[in-house]
Amino acid sequence: MAEYDDDNIFAKILRGEIPCEKVYEDDYVLAFNDIDPKAPIHILVIPKGKYISIVDFGENASALEIKGFFVAVSKIAKEKGIDEQGFRSIANAGINGGQEVPHFHLHLLGGKRIGAMVSN
Ligand code: AMP
Repeated sequence: MAEYDDDNIFAKILRGEIPCEKVYEDDYVLAFNDIDPKAPIHILVIPKGKYISIVDFGENASALEIKGFFVAVSKIAKEKGIDEQGFRSIANAGINGGQEVPHFHLHLLGGKRIGAMVSN
């Protein structure tokens, strides 16, 4: 697996070198609004640990980090009021997945019907 790139944009956000519109933070995650939102609510949830992708996270994160991540996702969905109406969560991975930023992140998209699962 490739090495984690400390200069990726989300690493810079985590270090406070680049601003973000923070929506939630705890010991395990930071969540902020996507800079180019694709829905009325478009939040990115990232672990604080250095994980390149969902594969890296699943393979190398501790049980506490993994639990902390998904507990935070649930809290954010409830705090933002998208848990009842529903939302889509997407984790792009690698080249075929169209992952642009090599720090694992989960997109949470809600506030409207999100539509087709994928476009061709
Ligand atoms: P992905 O293609 O899954 O890697 O998604 C990367 C996401 O990060 C895209 O939706 C971008 O709009 C978003 N993004 C890139 N730079 C920033 C930034 N500085 N603050 C917030 N979101 C960003």
